Amino acid sequence: MESYDTLNVPGPIITSITRPFWDAAKRGELLLPFCDDCGQFFFYPRLHCPHCWSDRVGWKRGSGRGTVKSFSRIHRAGHFAWQPVTPYTLLLVRLEEGPTMLSQLASTPGVALAVGDPLRLRCVTVGKFTLPFFELDKSAG
Ligand SMILES: [Zn+2]
Repeated sequence: MESYDTLNVPGPIITSITRPFWDAAKRGELLLPFCDDCGQFFFYPRLHCPHCWSDRVGWKRGSGRGTVKSFSRIHRAGHFAWQPVTPYTLLLVRLEEGPTMLSQLASTPGVALAVGDPLRLRCVTVGKFTLPFFELDKSAG
């Protein structure tokens, strides 16, 4: 299997709204949007809280822990740049803070995965980007 760091992937598209999230990933952290009015986390980043429509939103550091909500093993990449690392596993992660986040399993070929399995953040260098992937958290009970 090829290494992720040599891939020439096209994204993500980083905007002024999402930049704190991607900068945190470079530091190995998960930064999540948080509403100062209703006190709830949400994801993806946006200017208004999807729970109460407040614009008093900011960021809080997430634990980086979650569980598998769903997953899909990808054999034919959606973009050709990802084809060298197929098969890989896309994840829907149910974050400990509540929101669901689309992510990817940090490469562990052949790993058995099930809905509900514990995950922890593992940021991975993919081409020019650092992406917040997850790996199975063997330390979690
Ligand atoms: Zn809110």
